[in-house]
Amino acid sequence: MLNIVLFGPPGAGKGTQSSKLIEKYQLVHISTGDLFRAHIKNETEIGKKVKSLIDNGILVPDSVTIDILEEEVKKNPQAKGFIFDGFPRTVTQAEALDAFLESKNQEITGVVQLDVNEDELKSRIAERKKISGRADDDEDKLIKRIEEYFSKTIHVLPYYQNQGKVKKINGIGNIEEIFNNVCASIEAF
Ligand code: AMP
Repeated sequence: MLNIVLFGPPGAGKGTQSSKLIEKYQLVHISTGDLFRAHIKNETEIGKKVKSLIDNGILVPDSVTIDILEEEVKKNPQAKGFIFDGFPRTVTQAEALDAFLESKNQEITGVVQLDVNEDELKSRIAERKKISGRADDDEDKLIKRIEEYFSKTIHVLPYYQNQGKVKKINGIGNIEEIFNNVCASIEAF
């Protein structure tokens, strides 16, 4: 199985690269952000609980996030592998994911880190906002999301680096070129 974590700050291109990866490698894409947005849209209990956190760019508590992630993996028993997009975002989530995969005799194959500087992230999200309709793409919320990334999520990297599983890719430039570099990294894991 190919279990890839696509890692990077908001606006790094995780969604864009995920769509291309699932097509090429026939993997199941799990974006916890997309799952939460679907819960909000469908006004589920989880949706009601997480709406204001998400609208304000604050991370959802680990227990809620880990539950929805595991549920989604279990829904896809035939999967050839998964692209985890936007998960794990804390070390607790990374540890939970490892334990969960281990219980299924699986593991994370590798982590692709999309590297994009903060100025570029801000300008990309300003562009995305014109079409995304996402409340958390507002500039003040984006600042909070970037802050969450640098205070909590960044620590996930050394967790995987200690396992020798991280490959860093320059996330700025032509989408196809970035994709080729992502694929080359995946194939070298
Ligand atoms: P995203 O679409 O990945 O940018 O996620 C949008 C929002 O959903 C984030 O700003 C968080 O509020 C929430 N979220 C998504 N994934 C996670 C996660 N792994 N842990 C905590 N909160 C998350």
